[in-house]
Amino acid sequence: MKICILGTGFAALTAIKETRKRLPNAQIQVIGPCKELIYYPSLIWMPSGLRQADDLRIDLHNFFNRQRVEFIQASVTGLSADGRSVQTDQGEFDNEGLIIASGGRFIKKLPGIEHAITPCEGIPAAQHITDRLKGMDSGTIAIGFGGNPNEPAAMRGGPMFEFLFGIDTLLRQQGRRDKFKLVFFNPASEPGKRLGDKFPEKLKVMLAKKGIESHLGHKVVGFEANKVKTEGGELDADLILFMPGMTGPAWLDNTALPKSAGGMIKADNDARVKGMDKVYVAGDAGSFEGPAWQPKQAHAADIQAKTAAHNLTVDFEAKGEKIQIKHELICIVDTLSHGMLIRRTESGTLMLPPCRLMHYAKRFFEGWYLRQYR
Ligand SMILES: Cc1cc2nc3c(=O)[nH]c(=O)nc-3n(C[C@H](O)[C@H](O)[C@H](O)COP(=O)(O)OP(=O)(O)OC[C@H]3O[C@@H](n4cnc5c(N)ncnc54)[C@H](O)[C@@H]3O)c2cc1C
Repeated sequence: MKICILGTGFAALTAIKETRKRLPNAQIQVIGPCKELIYYPSLIWMPSGLRQADDLRIDLHNFFNRQRVEFIQASVTGLSADGRSVQTDQGEFDNEGLIIASGGRFIKKLPGIEHAITPCEGIPAAQHITDRLKGMDSGTIAIGFGGNPNEPAAMRGGPMFEFLFGIDTLLRQQGRRDKFKLVFFNPASEPGKRLGDKFPEKLKVMLAKKGIESHLGHKVVGFEANKVKTEGGELDADLILFMPGMTGPAWLDNTALPKSAGGMIKADNDARVKGMDKVYVAGDAGSFEGPAWQPKQAHAADIQAKTAAHNLTVDFEAKGEKIQIKHELICIVDTLSHGMLIRRTESGTLMLPPCRLMHYAKRFFEGWYLRQYR
């Protein structure tokens, strides 16, 4: 049988491992623009020099050999109505089972967004932040994130708290924090609520303790070279970092795949694309049934990919039980010196106060997680 997996990110690699484990003789074809994984969670450590660009680019050549994967270097552009033929800029590729793991896309529609650095763009954006910070002697740094008004789950705020607290710590370590004003802006009046009901209050305390100003509850309407424009007034800023809300991949427009209100691929809670046979989705590309606090996270992508690969193999073997996605949010919000562990499941939320151990745990986890792909 021939299984096709789209992408080489977190969800795709987990789907490859799980599929190979369950179907040792399957032909696995992977389609992606390049043979590497970008380890996004550690981008937050580039401005301090704790990580360099090359540390976060993982060459997948050996992993693909070990997993006996046929890699097609191409970008997906469309999909046949039954999902059995993937259209790419390098031609069409047939499959008998498909797992879509080609990630999401950020909505870069706000006027003047080019004046903000958007960390979702990965290594080049993190390098840009690093270079800009090095070149500044003083000034105001404004950091914020937005959402997708049609799909509350389609946002990524955690890393922006990490950039905010990480830059605060870095400037203190460099002995020049007093020369900078840090401002956190967000359209929500209680940002971070998806991390747990108590998070906004904890955030307020942390911002006050670190002397970080906030501009909350006002919709962001645009940017200028040195300005963040919101419905509640303008903020002057010498450096702007902004994570926009997310939507689904651009190539979806050329398909008949079902879309959620926010433009993601609509899936059942077993990760199968609604109404499709042997077509599954995992990771940022999907919109899944379940709790409203579902995160767009690498951890969630891994859980969804395991579910998708398991259920696809059940489809093929016509035996065994299908499983459902077990929603879980787990992250360590890092400050460059401390880390705050947050875990949210359907049965409750655990939030530990920031401590040094969790900063080192996040660093350790990176090495432990990546060793499977090196
Ligand atoms: C700064 C930052 C920090 C983060 N920190 C954390 C954290 O601490 N913990 C956590 O759990 N998550 C974190 N995340 C979120 C996490 O990185 C994402 O949720 C995760 O990358 C989603 O995995 P994915 O496989 O769905 O998508 P991606 O990792 O985005 O992978 C998508 C893949 O699809 C490929 N692709 C794209 N377009 C096409 C196409 N047309 N055809 C074929 N292939 C295509 C891409 O090249 C890529 O290989 C962070 C994200 C950022 C930006």
